[in-house]
Amino acid sequence: MIKRMKIFTLATISIVIAEKSFAAVPNMALTFDTDVATYSMTSTQEAKIQKAEDKIRKVIGSETFRSRILNHTYGGIKKFNNNNGLSNSQIYTKVLEAMESYLKAKNNSMDLNVKVYYQNSSTVGYTTTTSRYINMNTKFLNTYTSNQVARNMTHEWLHKLGFSHALNYSTSRNYSVPYAIGSIMESLAAKY
Ligand SMILES: [Zn+2]
Repeated sequence: MIKRMKIFTLATISIVIAEKSFAAVPNMALTFDTDVATYSMTSTQEAKIQKAEDKIRKVIGSETFRSRILNHTYGGIKKFNNNNGLSNSQIYTKVLEAMESYLKAKNNSMDLNVKVYYQNSSTVGYTTTTSRYINMNTKFLNTYTSNQVARNMTHEWLHKLGFSHALNYSTSRNYSVPYAIGSIMESLAAKY
């Protein structure tokens, strides 16, 4: 009787370990950092950026974020549009490594320099792959929630990791890395 109990206990332990290792995010997700410099912002705008940064770190450290990236589908296949030939898993690793094209260092940190401008247009912001700055239109920044700002920062930052998308709107554009991961960021940021 005692022997049987021991076997049962060991079996239970091994199941628990297996479940834990399945759910664990890589260490790089937990250590992911943000380093965001802002220029000529009001204290309200700065506070919103900081809140967004905080949410970005929490989302990237979460199991749900990992799972949403790994299971993303485009056209019924597990992939992103405009994926630069990378699998979902390779894209996830690229996000965690966080090597901006202008820094060329896999430092596990979202490094951004954010400038503001005002334009009465439908453009939320812009950047180029090689620029160290992202530019945010205050027309949107001032009315956006921190979740929407987190989406925009993530979108522009993904351009710095080398990901692009079609210039004009199309349904498929929503499946590009900047749009799709930006939108995953916004929906998960709402939890924090
Ligand atoms: Zn874009």
